[in-house]
Amino acid sequence: MKTAFIYTDEFARFDYGSGHPLKPFRLKLTYELIKACRLLAPSDPRLVEPTPARIDDLLNYHSREYIDILRKANSGDYVEGAEAFGLGPGDNPIFPGMFDWSSLVAGASLKAADLVDSNEAQVAFNIAGGLHHAHASRASGFCYINDPVLAIKSLVKRGRRVAYIDIDAHHGDGVQEAFYNTDKVLTISTHETGRALFPGSGFEHEIGEGAGKGYSVNIPLPPETDDELFTYAFTEVVPHLVIAFKPDVVVSQLGVDTFHGDPLAHLNITTNGFCSAVKMIKSLAPKWVALGGGGYDIANVARAWTLAWAIMNDTDAPDKIPEAFLRQYPGAGFQSRDLRDQPVVMDEKMKKSMKAEVDRVIGYIKENLLKKI
Ligand SMILES: [Zn+2]
Repeated sequence: MKTAFIYTDEFARFDYGSGHPLKPFRLKLTYELIKACRLLAPSDPRLVEPTPARIDDLLNYHSREYIDILRKANSGDYVEGAEAFGLGPGDNPIFPGMFDWSSLVAGASLKAADLVDSNEAQVAFNIAGGLHHAHASRASGFCYINDPVLAIKSLVKRGRRVAYIDIDAHHGDGVQEAFYNTDKVLTISTHETGRALFPGSGFEHEIGEGAGKGYSVNIPLPPETDDELFTYAFTEVVPHLVIAFKPDVVVSQLGVDTFHGDPLAHLNITTNGFCSAVKMIKSLAPKWVALGGGGYDIANVARAWTLAWAIMNDTDAPDKIPEAFLRQYPGAGFQSRDLRDQPVVMDEKMKKSMKAEVDRVIGYIKENLLKKI
């Protein structure tokens, strides 16, 4: 299988500001761990350097006035009227190189789409991508440019059917919104329920409108959901839908803020549940554009995406993180030398009520969506 890893050290040069949870450095940490595990070498032909997206590419989804504001704010200085576009102190700060960062990430996802569409790769992984909250004219949830939407649109333009599978802890609201009225793109998002977590949407009854009715699928999960429950929900719903839809390409957002201990969400997924979902996505994808996503414990990010890259290449990652790597990044927060986690053990009584809630959601989806596609 031909795979591509879209990466440049340039990603890590950007900084949302001290105290902001999204650390572009996690991308370099991931790349370095992948190299340390001997899953990639600097001279490897699978390593592909991205180039920034062109303005015209960005305008395939985003409004011109929004792109103009982002470009003006690239200096890092306040721009008059920026608040109306979701920019300012807080989630979506104006930082030096903000536009350069966003267009480089988008360019990397577009490169991934090009590589799989031209058959140069069957799988292309852009760990910087998956910025799924950005809207057409507004930054949201640390996301300025919606690279999954741009990648999917570039494929749809070429006549491809695209299934989007988003396993981030947060609802993939920006991507759902972009394709809510079309049957050309199936969007599926598993996430912690909007009752407990940003952006407060992604309920099971959000199923699309017009021609898109039945092509927007949401699987909200209760807080504390563990590997077993997540895998159960995913298996009951996702394969049926994707197989029935018959996509040419699967685009996936592989956020790892679902992990136990993530500072921004409240789920209990580990490398076990994550890897089982990644394997299922692999088996469902004729071609696969894999994107990163959330993940605010940078050691978890590096471990999870290293394991995902191994799965994409049909190879085994080692059990232990190389000592030399840990010595090189002592402040990264690795809890042990183990690359994989032990499952989180949950209280049975609590789990029973969580399972009842998940069964209710699955029942709704089976009743209202599975028959429609
Ligand atoms: Zn997230």
